[in-house]
Formats: sequence, structure tokens, C-alpha cells
Amino acid sequence: VPISNIRNFSIIAHIDHGKSTLADKLLQVTGTVPQREMKEQFLDNMDLERERGITIKLQAARMRYVFENKPYCLNLIDTPGHVDFSYEVSRSLAACEGALLVVDASQGVEAQTLANVYLALDNNLEIIPVLNKIDLPGAEPDRVIKEIEEVIGLDCSNAILCSAKEGIGIMDILNAIVARIPPPPDTSKRPLRALIFDSYYDPYRGVIVYFRVVDGTIKKGDRVFFMASGKVGYLSASIRTVADARVGDTITHHFRKADNSLPGYEEATPMVFCGLFPVDADQFAELRDALEKLQLNDAALKFEPETSSAMGFGFRCGFLGLLHMEIVQERLEREYNLSLITTAPSVVYKVNCVNGDTVECSNPSLLPEPGRRKSIEEPVVKIEMLTPKDYIGPLMELAQERRGQFKEMKFITEIRASLTYELPLAEMVGDFFDQLKSRSKGYASMEYTVIGYRESDLTKLDIQINGECVEPLATIVHRDKAYSVGRALTLKLKELIPRQMFKIPIQACLGAKVIASESLSAIRKDVLAKCYGGDITRKKKLLKKQAEGKKRMKSIGKVDVPQEAFMAVLKLE
Ligand code: GDP
Ligand code: MG
Repeated sequence: VPISNIRNFSIIAHIDHGKSTLADKLLQVTGTVPQREMKEQFLDNMDLERERGITIKLQAARMRYVFENKPYCLNLIDTPGHVDFSYEVSRSLAACEGALLVVDASQGVEAQTLANVYLALDNNLEIIPVLNKIDLPGAEPDRVIKEIEEVIGLDCSNAILCSAKEGIGIMDILNAIVARIPPPPDTSKRPLRALIFDSYYDPYRGVIVYFRVVDGTIKKGDRVFFMASGKVGYLSASIRTVADARVGDTITHHFRKADNSLPGYEEATPMVFCGLFPVDADQFAELRDALEKLQLNDAALKFEPETSSAMGFGFRCGFLGLLHMEIVQERLEREYNLSLITTAPSVVYKVNCVNGDTVECSNPSLLPEPGRRKSIEEPVVKIEMLTPKDYIGPLMELAQERRGQFKEMKFITEIRASLTYELPLAEMVGDFFDQLKSRSKGYASMEYTVIGYRESDLTKLDIQINGECVEPLATIVHRDKAYSVGRALTLKLKELIPRQMFKIPIQACLGAKVIASESLSAIRKDVLAKCYGGDITRKKKLLKKQAEGKKRMKSIGKVDVPQEAFMAVLKLE
């Protein structure tokens, strides 16, 4: 098809507003996916994505559509909805001229609706408002349309009402894409410049690259050149590793190179780090192989070897956020059959040392000694929470408990408010999102961006079990919170660590000073003896249960510490 008949668009929405369902319907209606291959949520093709109902990596699909007897080529780029992955959203938007703004007509504008719309406006995209889920009895499209107009200032006079689930309004959407989204500009005479916006490794076909041709033309058999990595390849094949076809790089022709590459993208920086250790030391090499394989498709995943006297050999890994961390961990266990211990995630601190150096520290146990450091800076985020007005109080309380600085409150409609705070990223890692949801009965939503580093009065809290300092349990806390965290953490550990044959002291320390102390009493020797009364199956059951529990434990000194204990610090009340 000629350029004037091409449309590049993406779908933006708050999570669960129906983006993937709508994408599936569009593919189905245009016959892009043969009926028998149609699985629910075709674009979410990683098993985990389908199970969790979220889109993790962006995906692209090309559709053919005939409008007024002319053939069109519609390129859909799906975007993830979770805050951890917002850098993937900006990438896909930069490859489009238009976007469908999908808003759940029974809910209304949410935090990520706003954030994504602003990204789309920044990219000068034509936005088509789509009110989804009008089949629901609770749908109020008129109210939500008013909300979009008031809050975003977007003209909704020709918003489309649809039900992605029931297939209502789908043709209207396809027609609007053709009629309202402009075609890409014709730059076919210029030297080729194509921007890579995604790539992945396919074990059978090598590296598959998604790119947007910005200037010039490209055809099968062309010999191409990757401007940043300097690698040459043919379009359908011969790209060996994903590193050669980096997201953000520009493809040009080998024989007619463009002068300058395209601006590209900011690299996704990992925000939280944790240690990953195999429960069984023999699995270290397998863990490294698995991480290398995952990294081929996930440039945001970072890792380097970490050794700890308590945990043995493992890796310090960097992730975009907690969801990203959970997903990687789950894939390692599920797809690579590994049994892992994960230590509590930490943000990256900047430590200004007495000698003038600044060191980055993402591992609390490696924090320079108090004598060596002058000050510590921590990453700070700006967080926007959208909530029905009934929950303003509880959410303000939450933000304050987490060292938040109040910035602004706006009523975006009569009944809904936006609360803006600045707070330390470390206070958000953990259960902040869960708390936001539970304190607002599920009605509030949030969005955050990292805004920089700020000096703060931080200190290291050590945990000693049975007189031994357990490095992976060390955590960095604000001095004002050290005592309460110490108390809550020792209590929690006492609950989580199984009793052993001897009494075990559990202590929280600031330097050499013990600030909280608990003790785990010894197990009674006759636990098994009880079963000797003849019931052999009961005894076997008990032993089996103990063995299963063992799988996810690490022996530290003489004490078995279960996985949950390493995460305890995240969920203190
Ligand atoms: P995404 O997170 O934006 O991709 O949302 P999904 O497409 O995964 O949809 C979230 C949930 O809403 C799923 O349970 C869908 O079945 C449901 N859903 C999507 N569209 C509709 C619709 O038009 N009507 C109704 N009733 N449910 C819908
Ligand atoms: Mg989805």
C-alpha cells in the first residue's frame, strides 16, 4: 500500500481498562489472526502475561483493512499498563501518529490514563477517545466523557462507545483510525533511518527486530547497518545477538548511510536491586545461564555476581520495579526449574565519602562504615494518587507514614481528587501499592516518576541471629524509624524462623548497639516422639512437610532461615 494508506497507532489505557481485549478484537475483526489460532489475549503471548492479565513487553501487529474500497495497512503497537514499564510506553508512542485512548466507562480517568495521555500529547499524537465496557450495567459513558474533557481537556465530541468484550463499536474504531489518524510523512527519498523500538531473541530465527522506518525505504534483501553497534545484517536474518540490535539504535543502508542517527531512547535504568541465590549451591551455573537467556529479551534486567558468607554464590540483580522483579524471579523458577532465595529489594543510594568520593550502593550490607561516609542521598519520586474524595484522609496518612512531603491537592471532578507527594523510592518499594489499594477499597490509582536524589539521615540496621550478623537481612532506614523498624522486624522474624533444638536470640543493632531483641525458644524434643504411638503415616507426613519447608531455606550458622524472613522487612506493620 502507498504511504498515504498506512496508519501507525497504539492503544493507551489504565491497567484493566480493556486494552488487550480491544487489541484482540481488532486483530480478529480484520482477520489478522486466523480464527482457529485465536487465543484470548493474543498480544499477551508470554504465559505469565496471560495468567496475570498484564502486558509486560510491548508487542506489534500489522492489520489489513479495507475502507471505502481502498486497502489500508494498520500497524498496532500494544503498550504495557503497569508503572514499572512506562518506559516501554514512551517507546511505542514515539513510533506512532495516533493513539486510541481507552477508558473504562464504569470507572473513569485513572492515574495511568493521565500519565499515558500526557506522553501521547508530548509526542503530538492524534488521540481518539474510546469509552470501553459500555455493556456493563454500571457504565456511565456520559459522566466519563465529561471527566475526560474536564481533566485532560480533550475534545470528546466524537468519542467512540464500545464494548471490546461484546464486539460493539469495533468497526467505528477501525474507521476512525483511518479517517482521523494522519499517515506517516513521506520521506522515502531520504537515506534510510529506521528506529528499533523492540527486539527479542528467537532460538530458531535469531534476533527479531521491530523497527519504525522514519526516513527512506527498506525492502527484503537489503543490506543494512546498525549505526550505534556498527553491525551489518540482512533484514530477515543474520543478526546474532540482541546486543547488536539495541533498542533505540538506528538502522540505515550499508551502501547509502544516513549522516546522523535518530535520537533514540533513554536507557531503562533499574531502580531496585536484590540478591538472587540458588537454594542449592550446585545451581549457580544454571542460574547464570538462565539470567543470560532472560536478558536477551529484557534489556532492563541487570545482574552481576554477588558472594556473601551467609548466602554463598549468587547474583545482585537490578529491576525496573517490584513487579518486574517478581516476574523475573517467577520465570527463573518456572521456565528454568530453579529454586531461589531472594533477598529484600533495595534502592540505589549515593554515599558521599569523607575522602570526596561518591559511591553508589545498592546492597545495604556493603554500605561504607559510618566513619568513612559524610552523607547519604536516596532516590526520591513524585507520586500522583487519584482517589474518590472519601479516601483522601487515609491516603494522606499513608503518604505521611512513608516520609512523604505533601505537594498539592486538586479536585479533578466534584468527587475525585489528585494528591501529589514527593517521597523516598525506598518507602514505595514494598507494600505501598497494596496499602494504597486496601486503604481506598481498591478505588485509588497511582503513578510515579523518579525526580532525583536527596540527602537524608539514613543508617544501617543490622540483624543478628544467634549472635551472628546476617548480611542479607541488613537494611537501610531513616534514623527516626530505626527503633520501630528494629522492633517490628525482630518480632516478625521470630514468627517466621522455625524453632530449632536450642534457644535463638534475634537482635536488631545500630552499629554495636542492640536496639531490639527477641528470643525464639527451643523446640520440644518430643515432636516426633508423639507419633511413635504407631501412626506411621502421620510421622511420614510430618517429615515430608518439614522437608518441603526446607527447600526454600538457607542455613545461616546453625539456623535455617526461610525465604519469607528475607522479605519480612517489606511488610512490617
Ligand atoms: P488491559 O489491562 O487494559 O489490557 O485490560 P484487559 O484487556 O486485560 O481487560 C481487563 C478485564 O476487563 C478483563 O477481565 C476483560 O475481560 C474485561 N473487559 C475488557 N473489555 C471489556 C468490555 O468491553 N466489557 C466488559 N464487561 N469487560 C471487559
Ligand atoms: Mg493488557
